[in-house]
Amino acid sequence: MSKEIYNFNPGPSVISDEVLRKIKDEFLDYDGTGLPIVSISHRSKEFIEINETAAKLMKEVLGLGDNYHVLFLGGGASTQFALVPMNFLHETQTAVYVDTGAWSQKAILESKNIGQTIVAASSEDKNYCYIPSLDNIKTDKNSAYLHLTSNNTIFGTQIHDYPKISDTPIICDMSSDIASRQMDYSQFKMIYAGAQKNLGAAGVTVAIIRDDFLQTARENIPVMFKYKTHAEKNSLYNTPPVFSIYTVKLVLEWIKSLGGLSEMEKINENFYKGTAETDSRSWMNITFRLASEDLEKKFLTEATEYGFVGLKGHRSVGGIRVSLYNALPLLGAEKLADFMTTFKRNN
Ligand SMILES: *Cc1c(COP(=O)(O)O)cnc(C)c1O
Repeated sequence: MSKEIYNFNPGPSVISDEVLRKIKDEFLDYDGTGLPIVSISHRSKEFIEINETAAKLMKEVLGLGDNYHVLFLGGGASTQFALVPMNFLHETQTAVYVDTGAWSQKAILESKNIGQTIVAASSEDKNYCYIPSLDNIKTDKNSAYLHLTSNNTIFGTQIHDYPKISDTPIICDMSSDIASRQMDYSQFKMIYAGAQKNLGAAGVTVAIIRDDFLQTARENIPVMFKYKTHAEKNSLYNTPPVFSIYTVKLVLEWIKSLGGLSEMEKINENFYKGTAETDSRSWMNITFRLASEDLEKKFLTEATEYGFVGLKGHRSVGGIRVSLYNALPLLGAEKLADFMTTFKRNN
């Protein structure tokens, strides 16, 4: 018997078993065509349907309207670092970037090659261990766009509060957290993401661009580099990454079948949410909340039945407080950890 493997690779990364089995089933004979999925024409009616369904599902899952174009492009998210300023940074304008790590830096480098670029906030001073405040970012009518990286795959930080900026389009590199939670995706004029983290197999990058913003794009750049080219041809200007787009479609169908992003968010959200900020957390008193006060009551009742007492949080914080003073036997802490794992699984 082979042992079960849990794949924590950062990308290319885990794809659900359901999706993988479907790929296996359809691989050699796609939908009764007698042809492997990797050998059907990108102009065939079968592929046109896959392409259209994937784009439609992308909008549906993110809650975006038909005023957005969904493009399936080659070249990876890294190519978008250059295409974004090529398309949207006009000569008289300035592009505004937030530097939250290695991926942001690569995006900034490309923008500097193309036009005026400023870094409005950065966490470089502490090796990117935090998200800098985004409240005081100054943009004006001369700003081409504000570029953010929603999740910093290398440094393990994620933006939770997006800036409220109305005079400047926000563009977001969401490569490693797209479709992981519910939020107002329409606050962005453009979102892009390499598929290989949350959306499917490597080889395709999804670029989602609001139509009114797309219309402002520059014309005097090579045809293949214009987002407009790919929008006008529904990503079929040239041969697209057929197999990767097919996997994106299956992954989006799988997300939808689970209940969409509200369910995805529940799966991804921490069941036990610490109340203290991570870099100030106590070794002695561990304070956390659960999703509701009812659930916290249930936790405390069941914990008492197992012999864990004194876990109720202080009234000024609520939730649970675990006090791990010197004399508490290690076994007690280990048993509580087991109980918490079981409680989480059952609830
Ligand atoms: C992985 C990653 C990229 C690079 O993606 P490629 O498709 O390999 O070019 C860019 N941005 C973020 C946030 C990433 O996680």
